[in-house]
Amino acid sequence: MSAASVGQIAWVLGVVGWYVIRYPFERRAKRVRVVSSRRSGTDVFGLACALFGLAIFPAFYVATGFPKSADYPAHAWAIAVGIVIYAAALWVFRRSHKELGRNWSITLEIRQKHELVSGGPYALIRHPMYTSFMLMGLGQAFLLSNWIVGLAGLIGFALLFFLRVDKEERMMLEIFGSQYLTYIERTKRIIPYLY
Ligand code: SAH
Repeated sequence: MSAASVGQIAWVLGVVGWYVIRYPFERRAKRVRVVSSRRSGTDVFGLACALFGLAIFPAFYVATGFPKSADYPAHAWAIAVGIVIYAAALWVFRRSHKELGRNWSITLEIRQKHELVSGGPYALIRHPMYTSFMLMGLGQAFLLSNWIVGLAGLIGFALLFFLRVDKEERMMLEIFGSQYLTYIERTKRIIPYLY
């Protein structure tokens, strides 16, 4: 089997893993009432970009080979690196879902009895779930040997992240006040100790 095919199969398994991790949380979240929603057109646009770049477009590529002209020869080492990064992404994704629990939302929302989570991965970074999206994008860039499809995931992640992060932190500050302020002081956004 060619390195390119191994990369594509690994990517498909990764996306399936992503959904298997997310599904139970999505179901559970439906049962917790939302007390304040900041869902906006911009946020939905960011989400759509992330979904397109990290899932829909690469799935279309795996199924059809389009856009073939942007393909480049796959290297076994790149596929191996991609597998490690994607696995790390899924691990961070799972850890952050478990930690955030009933406070999770697909968009910017405050739920009934919302608690400020600051344990597990949240002890180091404020947005580990977005870190996992970044890692998925990076993993995708190594797994799919196509310039356009490879980079689409990182671009989708960046759009979601930069359109959302300020608003999310402002919302958390409004709700949790000085508690969130001290939390900001001792954590980074998505890369431990760096950013
Ligand atoms: N940005 C976080 C969470 C993504 S889910 C991450 O990347 O891990 C988005 C929802 O999580 C937001 O609507 C907000 O209500 C909630 N949230 C974000 N940070 C939180 C925290 N530290 N504690 C509790 N809820 C949080």
